[in-house]
Amino acid sequence: MDYDALFTAQLDALKRDGNYRIFAELERRCGQFPRANNHGTGAREVTVWCSNDYLGMGQHPKVMSAMHEAIDRCGTGAGGTRNISGTNILHRELEAELADLHQKEAALLFTSGYVSNWASLGTLGARLPGAVILSDALNHASMIEGIRHSRADKVIWKHNDVEDLERKLAAIPADRPKIVAFESVYSMDGDIAPIREIVEVAEKYGAMTYLDEVHAVGMYGPRGAGVAEQEGLMDRITLIEGTLGKAYGVVGGYITGSKPLVDFIRSFSSGFIFTTALPPAVAAAARASIRHLKESDVERMGQRKRVAQLRARLDQLGIPHLPNPSHIIPVMICDPVKCRQISDILMDEYGIYVQPINYPTVPKGTERLRFTPSPLHTEEDIDRLVSALGTLWKQCALSRAVA
Ligand SMILES: *Cc1c(COP(=O)(O)O)cnc(C)c1O
Repeated sequence: MDYDALFTAQLDALKRDGNYRIFAELERRCGQFPRANNHGTGAREVTVWCSNDYLGMGQHPKVMSAMHEAIDRCGTGAGGTRNISGTNILHRELEAELADLHQKEAALLFTSGYVSNWASLGTLGARLPGAVILSDALNHASMIEGIRHSRADKVIWKHNDVEDLERKLAAIPADRPKIVAFESVYSMDGDIAPIREIVEVAEKYGAMTYLDEVHAVGMYGPRGAGVAEQEGLMDRITLIEGTLGKAYGVVGGYITGSKPLVDFIRSFSSGFIFTTALPPAVAAAARASIRHLKESDVERMGQRKRVAQLRARLDQLGIPHLPNPSHIIPVMICDPVKCRQISDILMDEYGIYVQPINYPTVPKGTERLRFTPSPLHTEEDIDRLVSALGTLWKQCALSRAVA
């Protein structure tokens, strides 16, 4: 059996469709965000336009010194799983910080946001007898995989469609546990869920709510706790999930909720227990980042300004981008090959790095470049980006939005 031939055949199919993934090999330059050295093909120095380190917190002096100090104090790794010698006081302090952030009784750390969704939905769906999980059609892969793994009955409701959700909730017997799983900010379209309406329908049918705020924590709400905080709805959400790897600039994931809920996941979740705990220094850095963004609005305001500027400039040129109320600017190319080509030219000729987003991350025919302006992008960065896009729009004969 020629196994490599089996692998290659499938890879070739990906390449034919223009969906083969090529990673940019970067060396981020501390103190110069969003600049990075490029070790792959293209310009040697690039401006990164697609980072999820939305506020540049990964290089914030307070976050870095918290990490340095914790390494000097505790060393590098945690030394074990949470169960066997790996629970550090710095993990517990971070969990207390997260519970306070979301005004919940308890919080639980995971090695990533992906793992937190996979493990929590997996455990809830598997362990609540007769549970039904009602999942928004555009939920993230980590939620989908967790639900699949749980083997619970799953009902998919139309994206952000509360009427469809209600119809589906109404059809489920009242005595079955129900979990409504959704996100606040959807990462590829940048649209925001009608959280209040969803919560009201869930309450009406006695369902618990599971909200992924991964793209919103650090970014929305007076203390950066997310869209549910901004809308004054945190106390009505059963479980809030987030990441420490995007706006907080470090790595790790978490859930927050009532004490029994969090203790339940802690006690029954394989993905929480059977893995080495995060390095204590990571926990210290994440905590410093959360604390800073609880008090400081400067980063959020700076970012909003840049987002508005880039949108206005794209509009002037008639470059089509999805309108949405968030910080994510999807510029629609709607062709996988062109999407990759434009990304390559931006990298090679302009030193601008934006990753093409193709199927299966987004549906076929909706291929896009996803821009995430940060407070550390300058007005000159925006000028350079917009003028490059203007030139490329002419060269590649892409359609412009009708003014
Ligand atoms: C990125 C992402 C995750 C996973 O978070 P990580 O910390 O990167 O593993 C979960 N949910 C959504 C919606 C995401 O975009």
